[in-house]
Amino acid sequence: MSTDPVKIPKADILAIDDTPENLALLSQILTERGYKVRSVTKGSTALRGAKAAPPDLILLDVKMPEMNGYEVCRHLKADEKTRNIPVIFISALGDVFDKVKAFQMGGVDYITKPFQVEEVLARLDTHLTIRNLQLKLQQQNTQLKQEIARKTAAEAKFAKAFRACPNPIAIATVAQGQFVEVNHSFLQMSGYLASEVVDYTLEQIYSQSALEIYHKSLEKSQSQGFVHNQELEFRTKSGQTKIVLLSMELIELEGVQCTLQIMNDITERKRLENEFISLVSHELRTPMTSTIGALDLLNSGQLGTLSDRGQQILKVAIRNTERLIRLVNDILDLERMKSGKISIKRVEYDLKNLLIQAIEVMQPMAEKAEVELKLESSNVNLNLDPDRILQTLTNLLSNAIKFSQPGSTVILKTTVTKSLQHKITTINYCQIQVQDSGRGIPADKLESIFERFQQVDASDSRTKGGTGLGLAICRHIVEGHDGHIWVESALEKGSIFYVNLPLIPIGQVWQQGS
Ligand code: ADP
Repeated sequence: MSTDPVKIPKADILAIDDTPENLALLSQILTERGYKVRSVTKGSTALRGAKAAPPDLILLDVKMPEMNGYEVCRHLKADEKTRNIPVIFISALGDVFDKVKAFQMGGVDYITKPFQVEEVLARLDTHLTIRNLQLKLQQQNTQLKQEIARKTAAEAKFAKAFRACPNPIAIATVAQGQFVEVNHSFLQMSGYLASEVVDYTLEQIYSQSALEIYHKSLEKSQSQGFVHNQELEFRTKSGQTKIVLLSMELIELEGVQCTLQIMNDITERKRLENEFISLVSHELRTPMTSTIGALDLLNSGQLGTLSDRGQQILKVAIRNTERLIRLVNDILDLERMKSGKISIKRVEYDLKNLLIQAIEVMQPMAEKAEVELKLESSNVNLNLDPDRILQTLTNLLSNAIKFSQPGSTVILKTTVTKSLQHKITTINYCQIQVQDSGRGIPADKLESIFERFQQVDASDSRTKGGTGLGLAICRHIVEGHDGHIWVESALEKGSIFYVNLPLIPIGQVWQQGS
């Protein structure tokens, strides 16, 4: 380990005195202590030297013949290059020394000859420390200024992008869910004024379904940092529904954690897409109906008998055409439901009766697949649209049978669930469960299968004859009843589809959408 004493940092001292002996003494004292000393006997030489290579500190004799200390100091302070160098005056005992003048000229201190070594060193040390601190402060100040300028430029850029962005953007606090800022595009899309959004809460602006997506996206952002393109329905001020893709990231604004919500209004794109799909479907329906008619005629044998191979090919053609017709019908059904062309017509109905009908409809399919259908239900009266709920039940049963192994059982049961919060009131729900012990659904597909054309496996439509529209239709019907549909599943163990339908006290008229 080194035992060297801590060395005084070398400072460059300029000593100015017209008496060479004094200078020699000063120089010796300081050099011994590790300082670097430059000595000059004339004020003019000192000024030149200080300008050429500014020292860290100047020791300046007051009384000099050509240019006295005050004069030298005045020159030093007048020059940008030497202004900040601390000057310590040296005066001899008995000299007429004007302390006030010395300080006025910009001196920081004075020492008196004959020198007391410890005093000289202490004063030097103090002023060098102050000087160093000053320099450090200046440096930090410059850095701070640069940092502020950089941040201001970045903020200006962000603000410009925020303002000019064609995408609607909103910033809200995470804790209170309160809007902090929204851009022009957001106001244009939503129909609100800035004063009607900023400082208001998300609950006051977003619809219930949009809020659910927001909270899910927030959870995801907190775990993975960001979320991209979550589809949600945005209700504008005038009550119009817009389809929006929401991307979210967490940011910090003045120490407060906020969500940066960037939206993409795809309403028009969706409308054109739907229009195109329904147009194509309409155009396909007529030729397909006549094709299946012709195929049925061929199959009936009225036009002559076909070879075995011919029969086989015909069966494939009939199966595929039927699937196409199902697809077209499903598309048109969904489109009519979405556009409100098919309304939910509720009547009071015994749900158990409906479950029995659903089982009867699906029995042939279950027998073919060697799957047993089991019903566990008691009578319960609900206000519902029997045709539409039957459609939902048969769809869920058909899926359960399709994805089950021969020999297994599919259970259809109902229970009356505890009270659940629904909008502002508490409502009892009747819960329908369709339970299978089939192949199950992967966790990341549990939500998406309720979207149009979403299947767990791309081959499902080919191998199982599905269209990928069944669950989207079910969701529409159930939500049209102010209900809720979801699935829980375990791979290779099976799935349970749940349908909650609000239980209305008998005799009470249920208003659509209430
Ligand atoms: P499809 O006409 O293809 O059955 P659905 O919308 O009814 O369309 O279902 C979408 C997809 O969800 C199915 O293709 C299948 O991948 C999956 N699925 C639905 N029900 C079940 C189930 N009971 N078990 C396993 N997978 C299912």
